[in-house]
Amino acid sequence: MATKILNYIGNTWSTAGDQTRPVMNPARGEQIAAVTMSPAEVVGKAVDTAHAAFAAWRDTPVGERVQPLFRLKFLLEEHIEQIARVITDECGKTRAESIGELRRGIENVETACGMPSLIQGYSNEDIASGIDEHMFRQPLGVVTAITPFNFPGMIPLWFLPYAVATGNCFILKPSERVPMTSAKLFELIERAGFPPGVLGLVNGGRETVDALLDHPKVRAVSFVGSTPVARYIYGRATANGKRAQCQGGAKNPVIVMPDADMDATTKIMADSAFGCAGQRCLAASVAITVGDARKPFTQQMADVAASRVVGYGFDDDVQMGPVISGESRDRIAKIIGDAESAGLKLVVDGRGRKASGYDDGYWVYPTILDGVDPASALASTEIFGPVLSLMHATDIDDAIRLVNERSYGNMACIFTESGAVARKFRHEADAGNVGINIGVAAPMAYFPFSGWNESFFGDLHAQGRHGVEFYTQTKVVVERWPKSWSRQF
Ligand code: NAD
Repeated sequence: MATKILNYIGNTWSTAGDQTRPVMNPARGEQIAAVTMSPAEVVGKAVDTAHAAFAAWRDTPVGERVQPLFRLKFLLEEHIEQIARVITDECGKTRAESIGELRRGIENVETACGMPSLIQGYSNEDIASGIDEHMFRQPLGVVTAITPFNFPGMIPLWFLPYAVATGNCFILKPSERVPMTSAKLFELIERAGFPPGVLGLVNGGRETVDALLDHPKVRAVSFVGSTPVARYIYGRATANGKRAQCQGGAKNPVIVMPDADMDATTKIMADSAFGCAGQRCLAASVAITVGDARKPFTQQMADVAASRVVGYGFDDDVQMGPVISGESRDRIAKIIGDAESAGLKLVVDGRGRKASGYDDGYWVYPTILDGVDPASALASTEIFGPVLSLMHATDIDDAIRLVNERSYGNMACIFTESGAVARKFRHEADAGNVGINIGVAAPMAYFPFSGWNESFFGDLHAQGRHGVEFYTQTKVVVERWPKSWSRQF
């Protein structure tokens, strides 16, 4: 019988009932677990438990609140290899990618451990004679995060450490496709010593999410996933009077100038476009070559794409794993087929291949489509697979125009040796995360993850100081103590 992935409510592991969903290993195409699916009454229990824990947790001094996070950091380090294997098994990425995402997650735990400084407000003495004014940050109450399948280790940690260090009680609703990583994380959380109710794990799908969005005691919702769902969650959460920060999908353009170092550029671009099987919200998905860059870039990209080693992520030398599901593989193959029928050139075709020894896996090999029309549906469709589209521009202005025509705004990058061109691009690109000679411009934990446009709904982003602001409300106090005035003693 498949291992059942449980909820964690009030520091106790529990099932939500009979309803489960299979969890698959995408390299083998076989079931490895079953996740419990939580109906509204189980969500209600989790929220009530968190709410009951809130008063004592918010009164716990911030220096004490971060102590379990310090312990969690060391537990994560100690178990990194074990958790990486779980990520690879349920999500498909390579060992290096799984370790890499955990490192970025741990950075967020480390950053939140600095909460005694981060949460500080500010004060003015004598705003009028003998009157002082202070701003304090106070937690909201029960907050939740709903996370996607593609970074099961890192993305929950974009939110969880900041939420609890600022004094909130936090409930995680991970992707039902990859719940095993969160279960592993919560096994460590159990050992880190958080009081009951401060951290909860509730598994499920849409019904579970809706119950969280509608529960009156949930004060704030963090979401990462596709744009249609991000828009839906932002609308429903804010209509219910909650704070919301919702990160959506992407279609990231990258300009390649003729003066770029082509060897380095194509290697970095291959990691960006095909790393994590292209299932990264910061994957390079459209390369815009300028002028003479077209020929050498296309040739060299074709070589690096065709030579990428694809297979099960914990096998030696594997550079790329499968996509998440058979449905995803078939959807991507159809997009490639439709592009071919529309007359696009398939520089490299990744359809119809299988990694040796893994016949039932969900394989799409690296693919490059040349001559994508900037006005076509394909140009603005998030493929979320290892497919790079090529467009061509006459000069940097033309290329920036193509970048800024995209409706998303998660990331835009440029490869060039020219500081002037790079500076112009940095200034004009309509995207929240910008890379210069970088393929995946992922902000460190102490910077906001700054998606724009259709890639983000809200105002405060995940991570760092934005996380602190999102999870706290400001209280301003104006005070006068007449007897303290020295002249009156
Ligand atoms: P998804 O939108 O399908 O699911 C995300 C979460 O929402 C899951 O927990 C899921 O259970 C829940 N959900 C799905 N449909 C729902 C519905 N109709 N109502 C309520 N809840 C629902 O996303 P995914 O396929 O898991 O993840 C891939 C997507 O996430 C891509 O679009 C990718 O670009 C995006 N992503 C964005 C970022 C970012 O920082 N902007 C980071 C990672 C992934």
